[in-house]
Amino acid sequence: MRIDLHTHSDRSDGTTSPTELVRAAAEAGLDVVALTDHDTAAGWDEAAEAAAATGTTVVPCMEISCKHAGHGVHLLAYWPDPTYPPLVHELRRILDGRDGRTPQIVEQLRAHGIDITTELVARHGRDAAAIGRPHVADAMVTLGVVDHRDEAFDRWLSPGRPGYVRRYAPAVEEMIRIVADAGGVTVLAHPWGRRDNSDLLLDGMARLQEHGLTGVEVDHQDHAPEQRAQLRAIAAELDLVVTGSSDHHGAGKVDHELGCNTTAPEQYERLRELAAGATRPRGAGRA
Ligand code: AMP
Ligand code: MN
Ligand code: MN
Ligand code: MN
Repeated sequence: MRIDLHTHSDRSDGTTSPTELVRAAAEAGLDVVALTDHDTAAGWDEAAEAAAATGTTVVPCMEISCKHAGHGVHLLAYWPDPTYPPLVHELRRILDGRDGRTPQIVEQLRAHGIDITTELVARHGRDAAAIGRPHVADAMVTLGVVDHRDEAFDRWLSPGRPGYVRRYAPAVEEMIRIVADAGGVTVLAHPWGRRDNSDLLLDGMARLQEHGLTGVEVDHQDHAPEQRAQLRAIAAELDLVVTGSSDHHGAGKVDHELGCNTTAPEQYERLRELAAGATRPRGAGRA
């Protein structure tokens, strides 16, 4: 069994449709693939339809942008009811915050002599639930300002750079609870990747587990081998579920090919069992 629990389509900042993504997952020999677009379930139905034709199992998930101790952190929410009102409300706030800051990013870049417009950015996020920095980055590539997304982030769009603008993100503790109330389970995405990890060592993880956190993504391209070993030890000590995944973004991220990291079948089974036992919201079915 080959299981990849973290991938993106063009409903957020991946570059392929959910259908194309599921077909590519089948071709890559994956038995299970989770669609984890940022802060949206917009691709779930299309992915489920495509899955029926390929024999690959699609796990519905969303990668929710949260904050912890003042730093951004991403939370993978597997199998939540996407119609649960508190979840819908928070996702709307996040998506609106992301969309709402694009004009300001564009304005700041224009002040630095870059001839970018909100229309050009919008074209790059045509199918996305909200326009984010990756779409700004793609517009900058089109303009020839940078060669690829990573360069746009490094030089212009990351905190401290000229095009950076903060946006709304809920506290991760609060989001863990909402997802659990929505019948889902949560896994901290790449917790030590591209960020100061001092708030997410053993103590920090233990506190999040007390709030209901189920697992931690250990095998991820943004974690060096020694970080993976340390994180795995923390997960073992706390008995958190351990996952591994590609964080595939189509052509939007290099070195994140489907199945480049995978999740052990017994860990996937634990996640499924814990989700099956999670509280379900009153009167709502699960997608
Ligand atoms: P936003 O939601 O608009 O703040 O954009 C965040 C998204 O941009 C993340 O989810 C990543 O997929 C992507 N991203 C963040 N940092 C980088 C980077 N250095 N290079 C490429 N993509 C990045
Ligand atoms: Mn992304
Ligand atoms: Mn992420
Ligand atoms: Mn991701």
